[in-house]
Amino acid sequence: MTTSTALPVPLPVLTAGLAALLLTSGCVPQDHGWASVYKPEQQNKITVVMPAGAPSISQQFLFTTSGAKHLGIDVIGKVGDPVIAVANGRVTGSFTEPAYGNRVEITHGPDASGRQSLTVYKHLDRRLVAKGDVVARGQRIGTLGTTGMLGGGIPHLHFELYRQAGAGGKVSADPHRFWVNGVGRVTCFNAGASYDSSRFAMTYPAPCRTGSSDQAAGQPAPEEPRQAAGLEALLQ
Ligand SMILES: [Zn+2]
Repeated sequence: MTTSTALPVPLPVLTAGLAALLLTSGCVPQDHGWASVYKPEQQNKITVVMPAGAPSISQQFLFTTSGAKHLGIDVIGKVGDPVIAVANGRVTGSFTEPAYGNRVEITHGPDASGRQSLTVYKHLDRRLVAKGDVVARGQRIGTLGTTGMLGGGIPHLHFELYRQAGAGGKVSADPHRFWVNGVGRVTCFNAGASYDSSRFAMTYPAPCRTGSSDQAAGQPAPEEPRQAAGLEALLQ
């Protein structure tokens, strides 16, 4: 008869413990190709697939019936990195305010379902478009920054999506439901690709690093080990 030796702590518990540690410390292990897990209280979690070249997501969408909400995703980067439009649209807001700093809002559609969508880009370092401007998918609309009141101070883009609901109303939506490549499949912008404009679908709001399998065209961005080192220093 053989006996198996049980680990002092079951492996799933260890993994959950590590995940909790990552969340509470705000630690981002990689600056590209990584996405944070959802908070446990989020009801409709999506399996997120990140292209290797996509700037990492440090915080996911959170909507609960009570308590704290985070109605968007946080995309990390360096101050001054490009922020790009996720679909064709018209700029319906470009302004600054104390909490979220420099903000750009773009209205898209209506799509084949007759609904408009609104995308919102916050904490920008600079705004490069004005209210009324018509913008194309992939167009640079601002730069990533730290403006407004940023908990932790890590430079990031706070990105939100709203879908039209009824006359004049809008509801917050998890951005991961609306990528060009499908639910949960983060899609890098590619200047050489053609996109179906009859449905609302987004490409990533930050250019992906070239040299990866799903790269963005026209945005040469070489490996920057300095960034990773800087981030580690910040988080220690
Ligand atoms: Zn955020």
